[in-house]
Amino acid sequence: MLRLPSFAFHAPKTIEEAAAILARDPAGTRIVAGGTDLWPNMKRRHQSAKTVVSLRRIEALSGICETSGGGLAIGATTTLDAVTRDPRVRERHPALATAVASISSPVLRNTGTIGGNLCLDTRCTYYNQNEEWRRSISYCMKAEGETCWVAPSSPRCWAVSSGDSVPMLCALGATIVLASSEGRRELSLADLFHDDGMDYLTKRPDEILVEVKLPPPAGERAAFWKLRRRGSIDFGVLSAAVVARADHSVEIWLGSVGSRPVRCTASIEAISGRPLTEETIAEAAAIARKADGANPLGNTDFAPQWRGKMIEKYVTAALREVAGLPVELLEPRHARL
Ligand SMILES: Cc1cc2nc3c(=O)[nH]c(=O)nc-3n(C[C@H](O)[C@H](O)[C@H](O)COP(=O)(O)OP(=O)(O)OC[C@H]3O[C@@H](n4cnc5c(N)ncnc54)[C@H](O)[C@@H]3O)c2cc1C
Ligand code: SF4
Repeated sequence: MLRLPSFAFHAPKTIEEAAAILARDPAGTRIVAGGTDLWPNMKRRHQSAKTVVSLRRIEALSGICETSGGGLAIGATTTLDAVTRDPRVRERHPALATAVASISSPVLRNTGTIGGNLCLDTRCTYYNQNEEWRRSISYCMKAEGETCWVAPSSPRCWAVSSGDSVPMLCALGATIVLASSEGRRELSLADLFHDDGMDYLTKRPDEILVEVKLPPPAGERAAFWKLRRRGSIDFGVLSAAVVARADHSVEIWLGSVGSRPVRCTASIEAISGRPLTEETIAEAAAIARKADGANPLGNTDFAPQWRGKMIEKYVTAALREVAGLPVELLEPRHARL
């Protein structure tokens, strides 16, 4: 059995108290919410901490409320299950409910939180292993080693951003609020991510993600499609999130194909202002395969070349769904709410 190392544990009841603990030693302190990612990572010794601050007793961080004009604010420690069950989320953003419902299994969705999903550590076959396994290959650049085994001459780590709510929330134009002992700031969710498998978040270690804000829906249609080996439990190795609005503007985002969520900017520019038809969808999907930052490598399940080909299929499926066109069934299927 893998055991946790020793560390000091705090479970404050207010955001201010948590921020004060983080401010004392940001580099040596980690935040835990549901712990479905942090605890296994600490047990496998690729993440460590002298101090862990739990957010679970802070009531102000949990729950979903309305913002002015019909937007929603989702508290960071709201469980994934609570997000999928919320009638306002299901009615206004059903594709977000679908994306969140695709995460892992019911047990993990009852524990894992939306904030933890956005701050999820990047993943790689050579990294998400126990300490003995990693020691046998002299570790890797992301933790304790020097070489990237996926691209040995690479100066950077290519571990993958795999949080399934991320591409969908980016496509929906979500913003986030970060809090620290120095105050609060709000930024676009897309700006939370660096294109770097090691230093993957732009937020400072002393900042707590407080809430995710969704703008009011503006007559849009959205879809989320995810590729993985099995229909549950497994992490995605590709996801496509699409939002189409009545004015013919469209957002297309990919997940799990790079160290951060990827906006398919060239595809968006190619079909912006044009109706979604068989032709425009085929055009956008073909370009998406070459999206800047979409770089499937040999560090997840399935062959990278095949995952690259699947980008076109999954973007096609998501665009066809929002256009109301018949969609080819792609396996494995997951619950579509
Ligand atoms: C078997 C298995 C399958 C999984 N499958 C999927 C999947 O298909 N898709 C998917 O997206 N995820 C998957 N996960 C990962 C995980 O369960 C979810 O991403 C979950 O939402 C993480 O939330 P958490 O609250 O448990 O995070 P934690 O483990 O508590 O935290 C994760 C990271 O975020 C940081 N953090 C957490 N909350 C905050 C905050 N409010 N402010 C700042 N930093 C914060 C922590 O410091 C930590 O680095 C899977 C996990 C397992 C074990
Ligand atoms: S991409 Fe390279 S450096 Fe990053 S975790 Fe994988 S093997 Fe390690």
